[in-house]
Amino acid sequence: MTASLLKHRAFIGLGSNLDQPSTRVIEAIKALDQLPLCRVAQQSPLYLSTPVGPQDQDDFVNAVVELHTAYTPLALLDQLQRLEQTQRRVRLRHWGPRTLDLDLLLYDTLALLSPRLEVPHREMLNRVFVWAPLLDIAPEATLPDGQAIKTRVPLHDRAQLKRIPLQDND
Ligand code: ADP
Ligand code: MG
Repeated sequence: MTASLLKHRAFIGLGSNLDQPSTRVIEAIKALDQLPLCRVAQQSPLYLSTPVGPQDQDDFVNAVVELHTAYTPLALLDQLQRLEQTQRRVRLRHWGPRTLDLDLLLYDTLALLSPRLEVPHREMLNRVFVWAPLLDIAPEATLPDGQAIKTRVPLHDRAQLKRIPLQDND
């Protein structure tokens, strides 16, 4: 499909605390780019963050990508969940019960609340490991009501995140 038909802009949050979480996230970004109706237009650096909830688990690696896509929001969610399942199968065989999380953060200027899908993602502004990489690649990103995301988050909390050097993947 030619690039001009991929006319919707979506932001996806990725997270993993697999034993090789950076590799999981990088492979998931590749898989997103290889979806028939998607292209990864930008990707943030990878960050390490301590888990939300139970602390007796490994740190998470997080990133955000911008997609240009022709999928509708629900069709895109289907694809994200399919990729999560694919990685889960790999994980169950080799690594035990860890996760790959793919969240649809923003889709154009859409505001949607349905049983399967809420856009913008409900926790987006509360999770520094989501909004900080989002602002890295889209500093002017707005909520559907037009408010700039950078005015709605505690920017100094960025210091909590550790950027992962490129060569040091896991
Ligand atoms: P988290 O909110 O921490 O990402 P989960 O990944 O476990 O939690 O949540 C998965 C559920 O969230 C799925 O059932 C999915 O239908 C629902 N969901 C609602 N809105 C979204 C969204 N914007 N992106 C991804 N999943 C969503
Ligand atoms: Mg999720």
